[in-house]
Amino acid sequence: MLKIFNIRTSKKNEMIDITNKIQEFVTETNISNGICTIMVPHTTAGITINENADPDVRADMIKGINKIIPQELGYVHMEGNSDAHIKSSMIGASEHVIISDGRLLLGTWQGIYFFEFDGPRSRKVYVKLIEG
Ligand code: ZN
Repeated sequence: MLKIFNIRTSKKNEMIDITNKIQEFVTETNISNGICTIMVPHTTAGITINENADPDVRADMIKGINKIIPQELGYVHMEGNSDAHIKSSMIGASEHVIISDGRLLLGTWQGIYFFEFDGPRSRKVYVKLIEG
C-alpha cells in the first residue's frame, strides 16, 4: 500500500511532525505487522526521527544544522540552494519504522519529521507499508 501526502512548508528550514498522519494511514489499512517506509522525493528536504516532546529540540536541531552547513560558503551551484542539498543528504531522504500490533513501533519520545531545507514549498512524502 502506497500513500502520497502533500505538505506545505512555511519556512526556509522547518521540521514538521508527520507521525500522526502516518499512524492514521497504518490504522486505515488494518495492517497489524510489517514495515513502514517513509521517503521524500526531493533533493532539498529530508526525513528524520527525533524527539517530539520538547519543541525546543526542533529549534536547536535547525540551529545546529545551520551552523554545520552555512547558507553561504562560496558555493557554485547557480540555483543558490547548495546548503539545502547538503542538508538533505546529511539527514537522508527516508526512514523505516516497524509496525507492531497496528502501531508504529517508535520510542516514547520519538516522532517522524519531514525536514524542509529550502522552503517555503509544496512537498510530497511517500509512505509504503509492507505487511509481514
Ligand atoms: Zn539546487
